[in-house]
Amino acid sequence: MGFGYQQALAFVRAFGAAVDSNKDHLTELDSAIGDGDHGINMERGMRAALPKAEAAPDGDIAGLFRAVAMTLISTVGGASGPLYGTFFLQLSSSLKGKPEVEAEDWGVALTAAVEGIQQRGKAELGDKTMVDSLLPASQAFQGSLEGGSDFREALSRAEAAAEEGRDATVPLLARRGRASYLGERSVGHQDPGATSSWLLMKAAREAFTEAG
Ligand code: ADP
Ligand code: MG
Repeated sequence: MGFGYQQALAFVRAFGAAVDSNKDHLTELDSAIGDGDHGINMERGMRAALPKAEAAPDGDIAGLFRAVAMTLISTVGGASGPLYGTFFLQLSSSLKGKPEVEAEDWGVALTAAVEGIQQRGKAELGDKTMVDSLLPASQAFQGSLEGGSDFREALSRAEAAAEEGRDATVPLLARRGRASYLGERSVGHQDPGATSSWLLMKAAREAFTEAG
């Protein structure tokens, strides 16, 4: 079981809806250790990305993700725009020419997408960024598939790992991004980007396990 164009679109829509309903929460988290705009940034970016994604030709999953990437890069001022943009751009390159995405394809694409974020932002695991949610998620997905799980189960594992990674950012000292300027004062707060990344993995699980 994999997914097609409609579910790829459903994934983007689900992420957009999630950042919309979590906008205030993401902004509050960013007010504590950043500049209080993460919810606003993500909501603005995804709101602009949706019509572009919907305009991608039917069946063109790579084109759909590429449209999201380009819009996030060009509309979001904060660090998160180019980083999430890179995520979607890597998904697009990895899934080029595939009208149907199998579980293995998603594993490869997700791994490339997280590597893209790491190359761009230079964050390692434990730096208190979105990587703390996304890297465990991609590893859980791959590990789960290799262990014989089906797509649905692997997506659930990825979501759960992202959630754990999100919570694990609380005691960490920020070493990348704006929160790193706070030094010790960043300790004790949940990272906003790791929180939106958990929403991203949740959206993937929801959209790709829908009948379609
Ligand atoms: P800005 O920090 O420019 O205001 P946002 O508030 O939209 O941008 O996003 C902040 C989030 O971006 C952080 O919580 C963190 O998860 C993520 N982030 C910032 N810098 C990096 C980086 N170098 N690598 C990975 N993630 C990063
Ligand atoms: Mg910010």
